[in-house]
Amino acid sequence: MNTSYNTLLEKESFSKSDLHNLVNAFLLGDISEEQMAKWIEGIYNHGMSIEESANYTQAIINSGIKLDFNDLSQMVVDKHSTGGVGDKVSIILGPLLAAYGCYVPMIVGRSLGHTGGTLDKLESIPGYKSHLEINDFKRNVEDIGISIMGQTDDICPADKKIYALRDKINMIDSYPLICGSIMGKKIAEGINALILDIKTGNGAFMDTVEKANKLGSLLKQIGEFNGVQVEVAITDMNQPLGNFSGVGVEVVESIDALKGNGPKDLMDVVFYLSLRIIKLFKKNVKREDLEQIIDSGEAFSKFVSMVEAHGGSISEFERKKYLHPEFTYIIKSTDDGFLKTFHTKQIGEVLSSIGAGRFDNSDGIDNFAGLKMHKKIGDSVVKDEPVLEFYCSSEKKINNLKKKIDSLFVVSDYKCNDVTLIY
Ligand code: URA
Repeated sequence: MNTSYNTLLEKESFSKSDLHNLVNAFLLGDISEEQMAKWIEGIYNHGMSIEESANYTQAIINSGIKLDFNDLSQMVVDKHSTGGVGDKVSIILGPLLAAYGCYVPMIVGRSLGHTGGTLDKLESIPGYKSHLEINDFKRNVEDIGISIMGQTDDICPADKKIYALRDKINMIDSYPLICGSIMGKKIAEGINALILDIKTGNGAFMDTVEKANKLGSLLKQIGEFNGVQVEVAITDMNQPLGNFSGVGVEVVESIDALKGNGPKDLMDVVFYLSLRIIKLFKKNVKREDLEQIIDSGEAFSKFVSMVEAHGGSISEFERKKYLHPEFTYIIKSTDDGFLKTFHTKQIGEVLSSIGAGRFDNSDGIDNFAGLKMHKKIGDSVVKDEPVLEFYCSSEKKINNLKKKIDSLFVVSDYKCNDVTLIY
């Protein structure tokens, strides 16, 4: 252990250079895991000021490469979601924005806890390379308008190392460290505007609107401190978004959406977030303009170009037939009435356990793992009608599910109020 950093690590407040020294020393191995874990614990318990959080974010960015798109138009944009079940918005919104004329360098993550990950979903496309050399990523953005990949060692390497340690010591849940981690990666993409989709509800990490607002406000301040315009949206996660959740099935639903056949709740979120970010650039754009970009096939064509640039094949993807898995398990309603509540976090956990994520699943991602929602909140249902249908390619997992599954929804005999989708 290098004790020369002890005085720095034990300070009560941190200057910009303190945070740069600390983050770099940990990255280089001059600060040990044990020392860093103690520092993380201090931040976890006592927080950071906004200025410290912004400086910490800069230190995270400076640990790697920051992309530069200065030669392009000003509309270099991205979107970040705090995660949920069935949240495939990025796969539709990214190509849509690119077809509108934006440039979208999108670095995305894998499944976390009960939520799905965009990277895992895209990897269900045969051949899709989810990690490109940084120059290839940049070229895709410049030539096509969009590239979606995972974090590489070039981008915020300090975040990778600190995140792994936070995960190991069970201290992910710290507002300043979450902000540094999320905003660091987004700012390093070289964007000038970001739309944040903070999910709230029983399937979100931010289970109340108050918590969602607090996180949104912090992320916005940190982005703006670092020269990125940030719009914050708070959207519902009290039920899975769209009609399918999981891995390959979410890409199938995204392709349908890009061809003009997306379900209403999903498309409402896609169009709302897209309009919010485009309007930052003082463009006079309406939902119908974006619908037209979808209907003309331009958004789907951007998606196809991006997939091909990443080595993927849409025709091979279609041959996989993710909507026709080998094994399924249907949960039916035991009553007549109306769908009142879904236990969304538990649904996400079940999905993960059968292969859509890593929570309660050590067998790796099953591209066929998925869920079809036969009913959504407010729908009428009669006894023995299917409500949820789980998909999987493992008979054992489906059989386990039958044994252990708890009630995942509530049916009431009266119709409840419509759900608020966008707060
Ligand atoms: N996602 C991230 O990328 N980082 C965090 O700290 C939490 C969620």
